[in-house]
Amino acid sequence: MTSGTAASLAAMSEERDPLARLNLLLDHLRAENEFQTKRLPEGRLASIEDLRRLPLTTKDDLVADQATHPPFGTNLTYELERYCLVFQTSGSTGSPLMLLATPEDWDWWRRCITTVWRAAGLGSSDRVALAYSFGPYVQFWGSYEATQAIGALTIPLGGMGSLQRLETIGVYGATALACTPSYALHLARRGLETDRAEAMRTVERIICTGEPGASLPAVRSEIERSWDAQCLDHAGLSEVGAFGYPCPAGGGIHLNEDEFLFELVDPVSGDPVPAGEVGELVVTALGRSGSPALRYRTRDAVRLSTEPCPDGHRHPWAPEGIIGRTDDMVVIRGMNVYPSAIEEILREVGGVGEFRIVFYTDPMAMDEVKVEAELDRPGDAREIQERMRTRLGLRVRIVPVKPGVLPVGEGKARRVEDVRETSGAAG
Ligand SMILES: [Zn+2]
Repeated sequence: MTSGTAASLAAMSEERDPLARLNLLLDHLRAENEFQTKRLPEGRLASIEDLRRLPLTTKDDLVADQATHPPFGTNLTYELERYCLVFQTSGSTGSPLMLLATPEDWDWWRRCITTVWRAAGLGSSDRVALAYSFGPYVQFWGSYEATQAIGALTIPLGGMGSLQRLETIGVYGATALACTPSYALHLARRGLETDRAEAMRTVERIICTGEPGASLPAVRSEIERSWDAQCLDHAGLSEVGAFGYPCPAGGGIHLNEDEFLFELVDPVSGDPVPAGEVGELVVTALGRSGSPALRYRTRDAVRLSTEPCPDGHRHPWAPEGIIGRTDDMVVIRGMNVYPSAIEEILREVGGVGEFRIVFYTDPMAMDEVKVEAELDRPGDAREIQERMRTRLGLRVRIVPVKPGVLPVGEGKARRVEDVRETSGAAG
């Protein structure tokens, strides 16, 4: 490392004022990062609002850069020798992206996710079971680091099937479980089906991330009911960092403004969206210099509350967490529909296992929606249909299916198919 790099890193890690920190980061990137040098405007930013002088960054920009400059692209600030960890996005929405972290960046990741663990109420006496694979995805590694950082016992559940995981949770007396919300529900159902409720008894907190859901009231309450535990949500992206921590009293997430800058924009026009309205979250990471994230379009749809949260947390509050992915938003018969709104109704009625939402074109050339679902009580189909009609204004066909027919994913559940002849999907 050159003495100039060392001095820049030291200055960036000591600065706490967001604008000064951002300017130090930008100066450093202009000098060292090929991808950013081409994009950054000249001169220092005079205010946080000046951030808008920087271009938005999309995942497609980074994927295209890696395709042209394989394997890691040019959004790199240092020689490869400086990096200590590589992870990748799941590729559930497009090509996977590879991300490299330096030791300093990884220290910062740990700090951000430790904030999440502390906000969730976890401490050194906890035993935290991590129901993630040891794959190249950051959720496991981030959760592992945070659990270590707070001095809790880490219980890795990678490489195990659901029943072995339940047994391990029981044997070690796990007090918390970290996983996706759909996997929390799946594991609870497997536990109840196989008389393993006793193994679930010690779990007090379910810490969810990876997909929208844990902040939807009906999903959260089903997770809480089935585990008899508190469900907490958090949010982050490999490309950006762990930016959202849970609000235990109010539900949903807070945006960690100590380490990130946030904007909400209209997903189509890119114009700013005021608090109280749904917009796409755009994030700038202040503590990440090796593979920086500047004005990164997360594709996460978020609504910020105009009221403070009941706990008095000082950071912006999104009571509904991540409402959905702007890529998942489907325009059907002229209406914007987030699949999470359909899931919310399924969970409210209860007794629903796996499900799949299919958008299709019927022979009369109308766009239609059907939901294939495992229903404990097939007679509920009519009730679900009626709620969707009144709440979403959507005519939805509910098709009960036998358990085991639909695929189960432990990562981001693939629950939406759009097989219309002319797709109206946005994004
Ligand atoms: Zn709060």
